[in-house]
Amino acid sequence: MRELPTLEAARDLDLADPLSRFRESFHLPQHEGKDTMYFTGNSLGLQPKAARQALEVELEDWATYGVEGHFQGRNPWVSYHERFVDGLCHLTGARPHEVVAMNGLTVNLHLLLISFYQPQGTRRKLLCEAKAFPSDRYALCSQIRLHGGNPDTDLIELAPREGEHRLRTEDVLAAIADAGDELATVMIGGVNYYTGQLHNMKAITAAAHAVGASCGFDLAHAMGNVPLELHNWNVDFACWCSYKYLNSGPGAVSGVFVHERHVRDANGRGTATRRLEGWWGHDAESRFKMDPEFVPMPSAEAWQMSNAPVLNMAVHKVALDLFVEAGMPALRERSLRLTAYLEELVHAVAERTGANLEILTPTDPAARGCQLSVVAHGYGRSLFDHLMAHGVIVDWREPAVIRMAPVPLYNSFEDLVRFAQVLETGLRELGHAV
Ligand SMILES: *Cc1c(COP(=O)(O)O)cnc(C)c1O
Repeated sequence: MRELPTLEAARDLDLADPLSRFRESFHLPQHEGKDTMYFTGNSLGLQPKAARQALEVELEDWATYGVEGHFQGRNPWVSYHERFVDGLCHLTGARPHEVVAMNGLTVNLHLLLISFYQPQGTRRKLLCEAKAFPSDRYALCSQIRLHGGNPDTDLIELAPREGEHRLRTEDVLAAIADAGDELATVMIGGVNYYTGQLHNMKAITAAAHAVGASCGFDLAHAMGNVPLELHNWNVDFACWCSYKYLNSGPGAVSGVFVHERHVRDANGRGTATRRLEGWWGHDAESRFKMDPEFVPMPSAEAWQMSNAPVLNMAVHKVALDLFVEAGMPALRERSLRLTAYLEELVHAVAERTGANLEILTPTDPAARGCQLSVVAHGYGRSLFDHLMAHGVIVDWREPAVIRMAPVPLYNSFEDLVRFAQVLETGLRELGHAV
């Protein structure tokens, strides 16, 4: 019978990893006087301890300067959105003029689709994953209707093969080729929120371009989780939220990527011709001349409509700074180790208890981030209740899917062994699956 590692063994792994110190930079929710085993960083990331101070700076500057805070503040509000560019480039592999932090995720998805989903003639189809995150599906269907189309015929929803849980890349590429010149746009979640599958964004983008379609990704579950090279992959557009892996606070600001070719060319103007516009997208040099004609920024900022909601965005900066300090390549390396360790623990607990625990997430580390989605066959919500009652915070989806993400910035090997112990007791107490 396979033994579970001891807590001491797990603590040794934590001590040996220099990145373990970043856990100290976050507030861990408590359960009975101890840190919870917090595995829902894919849903709402933890609060960086620097968040409060970051907010206080802006509140103090507002109190001190009033409107003059736009220029006199420690982080002048007039250019506040520019503070996030370096961090976002680090995480996305974008060039500085390709990213901007603004709005909410679904709002940004709409703004980007306005520019990049342009059905014309017989080229009207939009391709996405079946069971995409509901908000994305609502956005896609409403965009199709906005253009006078019919989601029943214009939305292609790719489902896994019969009996499988994940899309095969070859099937995605084949579906794109099949749709051919009827395909207007591909829009897929870079990491699937349910299975944790990481898609091959480079290959999907190339396939879309080969049939003349545009290609974008919703990176809600990819940002801060997996390495991204949006510029080199030639992705047309992407958007994400910052309250999941990016730890920027509930409902915090989203961000977008627009590839260089759409924002500037040799003449300083890009290929994007359709866009909803507002004053904060106007060329910064002359933004405050308040001219009636719109002159777009030669950057992703052209999509920015409003001045920055500073209080919403203050935490985003300190949260991004932690990623830059730790470095995404090092975090990915730790993430691979934590996730493999968790996978081993789940297998060990299954073997020790006889429970049928199935992992929906790909076993290939190159095809996943840190999330594992585990089905506890035959167990019901009582298993989830047991986990929560013992300080394990995970996400539960019917019928019995536990989604959990060991986040490299703050989860520890010790968290994982403590979790395995709680899981094992729960499975034993609740009795074997039928
Ligand atoms: C979390 C998530 C959303 C949430 O959208 P908001 O506009 O931020 O509320 C949308 N799409 C995906 C794929 C998500 O994972």
